[in-house]
Amino acid sequence: MKKRVTLTFPKRAIQMPVTYRLAKDFNVAANIIRAQVAPNQIGKLVVELAGDIDQLDAAIEWMRSQHISVSHSLGEIAIDEDVCVHCGLCTGVCPTEALTLNPETYKLTFTRSRCIVCEQCIPTCPVQAISTNL
Ligand code: SF4
Ligand code: SF4
Repeated sequence: MKKRVTLTFPKRAIQMPVTYRLAKDFNVAANIIRAQVAPNQIGKLVVELAGDIDQLDAAIEWMRSQHISVSHSLGEIAIDEDVCVHCGLCTGVCPTEALTLNPETYKLTFTRSRCIVCEQCIPTCPVQAISTNL
């Protein structure tokens, strides 16, 4: 099964080869969706973990024992409709086609169920209409 989680690393755990340990010790594959890790600071990873349910739970327990915070709640993307000018720039970087331009109205359409919260769209918006609460 698969679980998408947000990992928050304390300063002392940032250098830890977590994805390697998950694969080697728990047979859990970690697909990194988004990373915000700077040297000597707190780091955040959004990862999709894939593996047997028992091993996934054991892997999460192990990460928590290493003082890594594991959260199942993901942030969500928000589009400010009062600010968006429907230029379509964000649709060009969206890997899942969660953002598209309606071919008839030329208005931006956001399909939340397709969004993986990769945040690639945020810096592309020229009017800062896109934000996340993560
Ligand atoms: S966060 Fe990523 S997947 Fe979601 S709308 Fe933006 S570019 Fe698309
Ligand atoms: S880049 Fe910004 S202004 Fe342009 S369509 Fe996307 S959200 Fe709207």
